[in-house]
Amino acid sequence: MSPTTKSFFISLLLNLLIQPFDAWACGEHHHHPHDNEAPTKRLFDIPKGSSARVSIIDSTARLRGSRPSDLLTPYIPGFDNFSHPSPSWSFLVENSKGDKRALFDLGGPPNFTESYSPAIQRVIQTAPWTFSVDKHVVDILRENRVNPASIGSIVWSHSHFDHIGDPSTFPHSTDLVVGPGWKAAFLPAYPTDPDSPVKDAYWQGRNLVEIDFTKKPLKIGAFSALDFFGDGSFYLLDAPGHSVGHMTALARTTSKRKDRDDQDTFIYMGGDLVHHASEIRPSKLVPFPRNAEHKYPCRPTKPKTKPPTRCPGTEAFRALNVELGRDPDGPTTDPTLFVNFTQAKQSIEKTQAADASENVFVIWAHYAEIEGTVDLFPKFANDWKKKGWRDKVFWSYLMDLAPAATNVSLLEKKC
Ligand SMILES: [Zn+2]
Repeated sequence: MSPTTKSFFISLLLNLLIQPFDAWACGEHHHHPHDNEAPTKRLFDIPKGSSARVSIIDSTARLRGSRPSDLLTPYIPGFDNFSHPSPSWSFLVENSKGDKRALFDLGGPPNFTESYSPAIQRVIQTAPWTFSVDKHVVDILRENRVNPASIGSIVWSHSHFDHIGDPSTFPHSTDLVVGPGWKAAFLPAYPTDPDSPVKDAYWQGRNLVEIDFTKKPLKIGAFSALDFFGDGSFYLLDAPGHSVGHMTALARTTSKRKDRDDQDTFIYMGGDLVHHASEIRPSKLVPFPRNAEHKYPCRPTKPKTKPPTRCPGTEAFRALNVELGRDPDGPTTDPTLFVNFTQAKQSIEKTQAADASENVFVIWAHYAEIEGTVDLFPKFANDWKKKGWRDKVFWSYLMDLAPAATNVSLLEKKC
């Protein structure tokens, strides 16, 4: 090989190496607030309080075979299947004194025919997806030496079948907590109302508590909130829209130490606020990442998924949003499951401020991408920030949008 030919090949090789990272970088990069991270207080204001101990429980519930188009709109070309089965996370929260414990959501029960109301059994039997559950959360607790009698409350984010578990498996000393308007919408239940999705047995012999956010007004960010344990360690947030009385929650995972300049950290439990990150990200506060190809794994985790030919970058994802008729700097999709779309969107928008805060880890009930990254019960999740869990999973959903973003940017490559 002559020196000229050699240098030609070297430069060709260099070009090929550089190109994938360069090809998508057309257009002006817009302002990234995270370059000079705004103080979290201004993004999502949370009063001072003590910290809770938080565990993410794998309820063992898995929903398989539901399609993105069942949950999200508009349709994203190429995103036809979820790469992971949908888990249904439950959370165990304990106050700092250790005398108050609550569960936020329960997944589902393993024995559908005994546990669910006939209406829900019919839904599961005729659905195009499959739902499976191995264990009751109460048994997962017992196996790990947590006495069910120590659980003061089960909080339902809402009462859909994949969140309610079976509260009747808990001692009567455990309260069942629901959101505003829930009783009016769901009582009387089965068997008085044979078509009710929920059963009287869930709260027979125990307190059924409906949260009233107006009683003791408190704001967390833009949400009406309730200090559930009374020590600032665990708040319930009024986040309606997906269903009547839908609530999210916020637990303080670490509190500021005087000798260090740390901020408090939080886990935000999202219930069914969203089902996929594309419903909440990006936002004006958290734009698509620059050099997206470096920030998410540009390779599908499941071999079945068709890999994009290249990793699209920021401008490709923005162009996809525009192509789909969306704000280039807003979420790519909207939810399709709701009782009130305006409220559902408002609850998502209020949560975007939390999601933009690097000291808040937003985890919705079916956040599949966190599986394998976060520690699960009986381990604690309090050190999520130190362990970098949020950063590891934050943009991984872009994998689902990558095939569509790649195609759009191929069309618009001349920009
Ligand atoms: Zn759900």
